[in-house]
Amino acid sequence: MQVDVSQVKRSPGRRHQVELTGKPAEPLSWQGEVLVFTQPLAVNLTLESGKGGSIYAQGELRTALQTVCSRCLQPVEYPVVTEIEGKFYQEGKSPVDEEEEFPGQVYSGDTLQLDGLIRESIYLSLPMQFLCSEECRGLCPYCGSRADAGCNCEHEQVDPRFEVLKKLLKDKN
Ligand SMILES: [Zn+2]
Ligand SMILES: [Zn+2]
Repeated sequence: MQVDVSQVKRSPGRRHQVELTGKPAEPLSWQGEVLVFTQPLAVNLTLESGKGGSIYAQGELRTALQTVCSRCLQPVEYPVVTEIEGKFYQEGKSPVDEEEEFPGQVYSGDTLQLDGLIRESIYLSLPMQFLCSEECRGLCPYCGSRADAGCNCEHEQVDPRFEVLKKLLKDKN
């Protein structure tokens, strides 16, 4: 995803509002899982040109990702609504004096490439693990079916510690 900033560069200090929609470049990978985009990317950005042609971009990003529940491996759709914020420096004019609040990226000509910033913002917004629901009890350790759905196997919901006891008793007899 990219945005033309020729207008923005011509009026330093003025804020420009842009709305962008587009297809993400490629699926993301996160902790060994592939995250597939199921919705287009919608980015609402405010752009402002500053010193030496630098451009400050700030706004909101929306999309949705599909992955699997960390506990039961069912597909999970994860909506993403997150802040996006970054600074772009014109090629060959990297900052020397300013204190940097945001990680900077370099742009050339009149076009900002937003993919890097978008990826970063999405990664920062992701949870430690994806769950189909907070109460998900994962898979039955015996038959592998979802514990929530209630499996029909004989070992249903047996505390593994009792299993050990049972086995000890059996061996005695
Ligand atoms: Zn689950
Ligand atoms: Zn089971």
